[in-house]
Amino acid sequence: MLQLLRDLGAQLAWQRDAGLLDTPSQGPLPVASVVAAPVPVSVSAPAPARAEPPPPAPVAVVAAPLVSAPPTVPVPMADPVLPEPVKVPPPAAVVTPIAPANFEGRAGALRVIQEEVRACRACKLAPTRTQTVFARGNPDARLCFIGEGPGADEDRTGLPFVGVAGQLLDRIIAAMRLTEDQVYIANIVKCRPPNNRVPYDEEMSACTPFLLRQLEVVKPEVIVALGKTAAGFLLEDKSTMTTMRGRWHSWKGVPVMPTWHPSYVLRVRDDPKSTARAEVWTDMKLVLERLGLPVPSPRG
Ligand code: SF4
Repeated sequence: MLQLLRDLGAQLAWQRDAGLLDTPSQGPLPVASVVAAPVPVSVSAPAPARAEPPPPAPVAVVAAPLVSAPPTVPVPMADPVLPEPVKVPPPAAVVTPIAPANFEGRAGALRVIQEEVRACRACKLAPTRTQTVFARGNPDARLCFIGEGPGADEDRTGLPFVGVAGQLLDRIIAAMRLTEDQVYIANIVKCRPPNNRVPYDEEMSACTPFLLRQLEVVKPEVIVALGKTAAGFLLEDKSTMTTMRGRWHSWKGVPVMPTWHPSYVLRVRDDPKSTARAEVWTDMKLVLERLGLPVPSPRG
Protein backbone atom coordinates (compact mmCIF):
# COMPACT_ATOMS: atom_id res chain seq x y z
CA MET A 1 0.00 0.00 0.00
CA LEU A 2 2.84 2.36 0.80
CA GLN A 3 4.22 1.77 -2.67
CA LEU A 4 0.84 2.59 -4.08
CA LEU A 5 0.75 5.86 -2.24
CA ARG A 6 4.21 6.73 -3.40
CA ASP A 7 3.29 6.00 -6.99
CA LEU A 8 0.16 8.07 -6.65
CA GLY A 9 2.09 10.96 -5.15
CA ALA A 10 4.62 10.81 -7.95
CA GLN A 11 1.81 10.77 -10.50
CA LEU A 12 0.23 13.84 -8.95
CA ALA A 13 3.58 15.62 -8.81
CA TRP A 14 4.17 14.86 -12.47
CA GLN A 15 0.70 16.12 -13.41
CA ARG A 16 1.21 19.24 -11.39
CA ASP A 17 4.67 19.84 -12.98
CA ALA A 18 3.17 19.16 -16.36
CA GLY A 19 0.50 21.80 -15.74
CA LEU A 20 -2.31 19.26 -15.87
CA LEU A 21 -3.51 20.19 -12.41
CA ASP A 22 -5.08 23.60 -11.70
CA THR A 23 -3.26 23.80 -8.47
CA PRO A 24 -0.64 26.34 -7.43
CA SER A 25 2.71 24.83 -7.09
CA GLN A 26 3.41 24.10 -3.46
CA GLY A 27 6.47 22.16 -3.97
CA PRO A 28 6.58 18.42 -3.59
CA LEU A 29 3.43 17.04 -2.02
CA PRO A 30 4.01 15.75 1.45
CA VAL A 31 3.22 12.12 1.94
CA ALA A 32 0.60 13.00 4.59
CA SER A 33 -1.46 15.09 2.22
CA VAL A 34 -1.28 12.38 -0.37
CA VAL A 35 -2.54 9.85 2.11
CA ALA A 36 -5.40 12.11 3.23
CA ALA A 37 -6.71 12.57 -0.27
CA PRO A 38 -7.21 8.98 -1.28
CA VAL A 39 -8.70 7.79 1.99
CA PRO A 40 -12.31 8.24 0.91
CA VAL A 41 -11.63 6.40 -2.32
CA SER A 42 -9.18 3.56 -1.92
CA VAL A 43 -8.94 3.01 1.83
CA SER A 44 -12.55 3.43 2.79
CA ALA A 45 -13.24 0.07 4.40
CA PRO A 46 -11.40 0.38 7.72
CA ALA A 47 -12.49 3.95 8.41
CA PRO A 48 -16.32 3.50 8.48
CA ALA A 49 -16.02 0.40 10.62
CA ARG A 50 -14.52 2.48 13.41
CA ALA A 51 -16.74 5.44 12.70
CA GLU A 52 -20.02 3.57 13.43
CA PRO A 53 -19.85 2.21 16.97
CA PRO A 54 -23.40 3.31 17.93
CA PRO A 55 -25.32 0.52 16.15
CA PRO A 56 -23.99 -2.36 18.29
CA ALA A 57 -24.72 -0.51 21.50
CA PRO A 58 -28.50 -0.16 20.99
CA VAL A 59 -28.78 -3.85 20.29
CA ALA A 60 -27.37 -4.70 23.69
CA VAL A 61 -29.56 -2.10 25.39
CA VAL A 62 -32.74 -3.32 23.79
CA ALA A 63 -32.10 -6.94 24.64
CA ALA A 64 -32.08 -6.31 28.35
CA PRO A 65 -35.55 -4.73 28.61
CA LEU A 66 -37.15 -7.54 26.63
CA VAL A 67 -36.10 -10.07 29.21
CA SER A 68 -37.38 -8.10 32.12
CA ALA A 69 -40.47 -6.85 30.38
CA PRO A 70 -43.01 -9.49 31.44
CA PRO A 71 -42.66 -8.96 35.16
CA THR A 72 -42.51 -5.17 34.85
CA VAL A 73 -45.60 -4.84 32.60
CA PRO A 74 -48.36 -6.12 34.90
CA VAL A 75 -51.30 -7.59 33.02
CA PRO A 76 -53.87 -6.71 35.67
CA MET A 77 -53.37 -3.06 35.02
CA ALA A 78 -54.82 -3.55 31.56
CA ASP A 79 -57.79 -5.65 32.71
CA PRO A 80 -59.77 -3.07 34.61
CA VAL A 81 -59.50 -0.74 31.67
CA LEU A 82 -60.11 -2.94 28.65
CA PRO A 83 -62.36 -5.88 29.50
CA GLU A 84 -64.96 -3.97 31.50
CA PRO A 85 -66.48 -2.03 28.68
CA VAL A 86 -66.47 -5.17 26.59
CA LYS A 87 -68.14 -7.39 29.19
CA VAL A 88 -70.96 -5.09 30.22
CA PRO A 89 -73.12 -5.29 27.08
CA PRO A 90 -73.58 -9.11 26.88
CA PRO A 91 -75.35 -9.54 30.27
CA ALA A 92 -77.70 -6.70 29.46
CA ALA A 93 -78.49 -8.26 26.11
CA VAL A 94 -79.25 -11.65 27.69
CA VAL A 95 -81.42 -10.45 30.56
CA THR A 96 -83.47 -7.84 28.76
CA PRO A 97 -85.45 -10.00 26.34
CA ILE A 98 -86.39 -12.67 28.90
CA ALA A 99 -87.91 -10.77 31.78
CA PRO A 100 -90.51 -8.48 30.26
CA ALA A 101 -91.46 -10.63 27.30
CA ASN A 102 -92.05 -14.05 28.86
CA PHE A 103 -92.44 -13.66 32.61
CA GLU A 104 -95.59 -11.70 33.17
CA GLY A 105 -98.63 -12.58 35.22
CA ARG A 106 -99.29 -15.83 37.03
CA ALA A 107 -97.93 -17.98 34.23
CA GLY A 108 -94.72 -15.98 34.24
CA ALA A 109 -94.33 -16.19 38.00
CA LEU A 110 -94.92 -19.93 37.86
CA ARG A 111 -92.39 -20.23 35.05
CA VAL A 112 -89.78 -18.67 37.31
CA ILE A 113 -90.57 -21.20 40.07
CA GLN A 114 -90.57 -24.03 37.57
CA GLU A 115 -87.09 -23.10 36.39
CA GLU A 116 -85.89 -23.14 39.98
CA VAL A 117 -87.45 -26.56 40.50
CA ARG A 118 -85.81 -27.83 37.34
CA ALA A 119 -82.41 -26.87 38.69
CA CYS A 120 -83.10 -28.00 42.25
CA ARG A 121 -81.00 -30.72 43.89
CA ALA A 122 -81.88 -29.87 47.46
CA CYS A 123 -82.82 -33.36 48.59
CA LYS A 124 -81.94 -37.00 47.98
CA LEU A 125 -84.68 -37.43 45.37
CA ALA A 126 -82.72 -35.47 42.80
CA PRO A 127 -80.16 -38.13 41.78
CA THR A 128 -82.80 -40.76 40.92
CA ARG A 129 -85.25 -38.60 39.01
CA THR A 130 -85.52 -38.53 35.25
CA GLN A 131 -86.87 -35.01 35.43
CA THR A 132 -88.77 -32.76 37.78
CA VAL A 133 -92.58 -32.70 37.69
CA PHE A 134 -93.95 -29.24 38.29
CA ALA A 135 -97.67 -28.90 37.51
CA ARG A 136 -100.34 -28.96 34.84
CA GLY A 137 -103.56 -27.04 34.36
CA ASN A 138 -104.49 -23.39 34.41
CA PRO A 139 -102.57 -20.89 36.57
CA ASP A 140 -105.79 -18.90 36.88
CA ALA A 141 -107.84 -21.85 38.08
CA ARG A 142 -110.18 -21.48 41.04
CA LEU A 143 -109.65 -25.11 42.08
CA CYS A 144 -106.33 -26.83 42.89
CA PHE A 145 -105.68 -30.53 43.34
CA ILE A 146 -102.59 -31.34 45.39
CA GLY A 147 -101.14 -34.85 45.34
CA GLU A 148 -98.17 -36.54 46.94
CA GLY A 149 -95.42 -36.98 44.34
CA PRO A 150 -94.64 -38.18 40.83
CA GLY A 151 -94.83 -41.83 39.84
CA ALA A 152 -93.06 -43.58 37.00
CA ASP A 153 -95.28 -42.11 34.26
CA GLU A 154 -94.98 -38.62 35.68
CA ASP A 155 -91.22 -38.98 36.05
CA ARG A 156 -91.06 -39.99 32.38
CA THR A 157 -93.35 -37.26 31.02
CA GLY A 158 -92.64 -34.41 33.42
CA LEU A 159 -96.37 -33.89 34.10
CA PRO A 160 -98.31 -34.74 37.26
CA PHE A 161 -101.14 -37.27 37.31
CA VAL A 162 -100.74 -38.71 33.83
CA GLY A 163 -100.59 -42.41 34.77
CA VAL A 164 -103.44 -44.67 35.74
CA ALA A 165 -104.19 -42.66 38.88
CA GLY A 166 -104.08 -39.49 36.80
CA GLN A 167 -106.59 -40.93 34.38
CA LEU A 168 -108.96 -41.59 37.26
CA LEU A 169 -108.47 -38.01 38.46
CA ASP A 170 -109.30 -36.78 34.98
CA ARG A 171 -112.52 -38.81 35.09
CA ILE A 172 -113.39 -37.29 38.45
CA ILE A 173 -112.76 -33.81 37.05
CA ALA A 174 -114.87 -34.64 34.00
CA ALA A 175 -117.64 -35.93 36.27
CA MET A 176 -117.61 -32.54 37.95
CA ARG A 177 -118.23 -31.03 34.51
CA LEU A 178 -114.83 -29.37 34.60
CA THR A 179 -111.86 -29.53 32.27
CA GLU A 180 -108.11 -29.39 32.74
CA ASP A 181 -108.27 -25.70 31.84
CA GLN A 182 -110.37 -25.10 34.94
CA VAL A 183 -108.07 -26.74 37.49
CA TYR A 184 -104.43 -26.60 38.59
CA ILE A 185 -102.70 -29.84 39.60
CA ALA A 186 -99.43 -30.16 41.53
CA ASN A 187 -97.66 -32.36 44.07
CA ILE A 188 -95.99 -32.06 47.45
CA VAL A 189 -92.60 -33.13 46.02
CA LYS A 190 -91.44 -32.53 42.48
CA CYS A 191 -89.19 -35.56 42.06
CA ARG A 192 -90.20 -39.20 42.06
CA PRO A 193 -89.45 -41.09 45.28
CA PRO A 194 -87.82 -44.45 44.48
CA ASN A 195 -90.34 -47.30 44.24
CA ASN A 196 -93.13 -44.77 44.76
CA ARG A 197 -92.51 -44.69 48.49
CA VAL A 198 -93.94 -41.90 50.63
CA PRO A 199 -91.59 -38.89 50.64
CA TYR A 200 -89.50 -38.57 53.77
CA ASP A 201 -90.08 -35.60 56.06
CA GLU A 202 -86.77 -33.98 55.06
CA GLU A 203 -87.69 -34.33 51.38
CA MET A 204 -91.05 -32.67 51.93
CA SER A 205 -89.44 -29.94 53.99
CA ALA A 206 -86.98 -29.25 51.20
CA CYS A 207 -89.58 -29.25 48.44
CA THR A 208 -92.77 -27.77 49.84
CA PRO A 209 -91.55 -24.16 49.68
CA PHE A 210 -91.99 -24.54 45.93
CA LEU A 211 -95.59 -25.69 46.36
CA LEU A 212 -96.36 -22.89 48.79
CA ARG A 213 -95.09 -20.37 46.26
CA GLN A 214 -97.19 -22.02 43.54
CA LEU A 215 -100.31 -21.72 45.66
CA GLU A 216 -99.52 -18.13 46.53
CA VAL A 217 -99.33 -17.34 42.81
CA VAL A 218 -102.41 -19.29 41.70
CA LYS A 219 -104.50 -18.17 44.68
CA PRO A 220 -107.10 -20.93 44.39
CA GLU A 221 -110.49 -20.51 45.97
CA VAL A 222 -110.60 -24.18 46.98
CA ILE A 223 -107.90 -26.82 47.45
CA VAL A 224 -108.50 -30.56 47.25
CA ALA A 225 -105.83 -32.51 49.14
CA LEU A 226 -105.47 -35.92 47.51
CA GLY A 227 -104.41 -38.42 50.15
CA LYS A 228 -102.88 -38.34 53.60
CA THR A 229 -99.50 -36.91 52.63
CA ALA A 230 -100.96 -33.81 50.98
CA ALA A 231 -103.63 -33.31 53.63
CA GLY A 232 -101.14 -33.87 56.46
CA PHE A 233 -98.76 -31.26 55.09
CA LEU A 234 -101.30 -28.58 54.25
CA LEU A 235 -103.27 -28.99 57.46
CA GLU A 236 -100.34 -29.93 59.71
CA ASP A 237 -102.54 -32.75 60.88
CA LYS A 238 -101.45 -36.36 61.34
CA SER A 239 -105.01 -37.66 61.60
CA THR A 240 -106.23 -40.46 59.35
CA MET A 241 -107.96 -39.76 56.07
CA THR A 242 -111.13 -41.31 57.43
CA THR A 243 -111.11 -38.60 60.08
CA MET A 244 -110.15 -35.69 57.84
CA ARG A 245 -112.07 -36.26 54.60
CA GLY A 246 -115.63 -35.13 54.00
CA ARG A 247 -115.35 -31.86 55.95
CA TRP A 248 -113.80 -28.49 55.40
CA HIS A 249 -110.42 -27.44 56.71
CA SER A 250 -108.36 -24.30 56.08
CA TRP A 251 -104.93 -23.48 54.75
CA LYS A 252 -104.08 -19.82 55.18
CA GLY A 253 -107.77 -19.01 54.87
CA VAL A 254 -108.29 -21.15 51.77
CA PRO A 255 -110.88 -23.94 52.17
CA VAL A 256 -109.28 -27.39 51.93
CA MET A 257 -111.17 -30.59 51.22
CA PRO A 258 -109.15 -33.77 51.90
CA THR A 259 -110.23 -36.82 49.95
CA TRP A 260 -108.88 -40.20 48.95
CA HIS A 261 -105.92 -40.29 46.62
CA PRO A 262 -106.89 -41.82 43.23
CA SER A 263 -104.18 -44.46 43.69
CA TYR A 264 -105.93 -45.64 46.85
CA VAL A 265 -109.29 -45.72 45.10
CA LEU A 266 -107.77 -47.93 42.41
CA ARG A 267 -106.16 -50.19 44.99
CA VAL A 268 -109.43 -50.88 46.77
CA ARG A 269 -111.74 -50.84 43.79
CA ASP A 270 -112.13 -54.64 43.88
CA ASP A 271 -112.93 -54.62 47.57
CA PRO A 272 -116.75 -54.84 47.79
CA LYS A 273 -116.65 -53.28 51.24
CA SER A 274 -114.73 -50.21 50.15
CA THR A 275 -116.67 -46.98 49.95
CA ALA A 276 -113.70 -44.89 48.80
CA ARG A 277 -115.05 -44.22 45.30
CA ALA A 278 -118.41 -43.02 46.55
CA GLU A 279 -116.77 -40.94 49.26
CA VAL A 280 -114.60 -39.15 46.72
CA TRP A 281 -117.71 -38.19 44.78
CA THR A 282 -119.37 -36.98 47.94
CA ASP A 283 -116.35 -34.78 48.65
CA MET A 284 -116.31 -33.41 45.11
CA LYS A 285 -119.94 -32.42 45.35
CA LEU A 286 -119.06 -30.38 48.42
CA VAL A 287 -116.28 -28.73 46.42
CA LEU A 288 -118.65 -27.80 43.60
CA GLU A 289 -121.09 -26.35 46.06
CA ARG A 290 -118.31 -24.33 47.68
CA LEU A 291 -117.34 -22.94 44.29
CA GLY A 292 -120.96 -22.13 43.52
CA LEU A 293 -120.96 -24.52 40.57
CA PRO A 294 -123.81 -26.86 39.64
CA VAL A 295 -123.63 -30.38 41.01
CA PRO A 296 -124.28 -32.88 38.23
CA SER A 297 -126.91 -35.49 38.88
CA PRO A 298 -125.64 -39.09 39.05
CA ARG A 299 -127.17 -39.75 35.67
CA GLY A 300 -126.40 -36.31 34.31
S1 SF4 B 1 -87.98 -33.27 45.42
FE1 SF4 B 1 -88.08 -31.03 45.45
S2 SF4 B 1 -86.47 -30.43 46.90
FE2 SF4 B 1 -86.01 -32.54 46.29
S3 SF4 B 1 -84.61 -32.28 44.53
FE3 SF4 B 1 -86.70 -32.48 43.71
S4 SF4 B 1 -87.37 -30.36 43.44
FE4 SF4 B 1 -85.60 -30.30 44.82
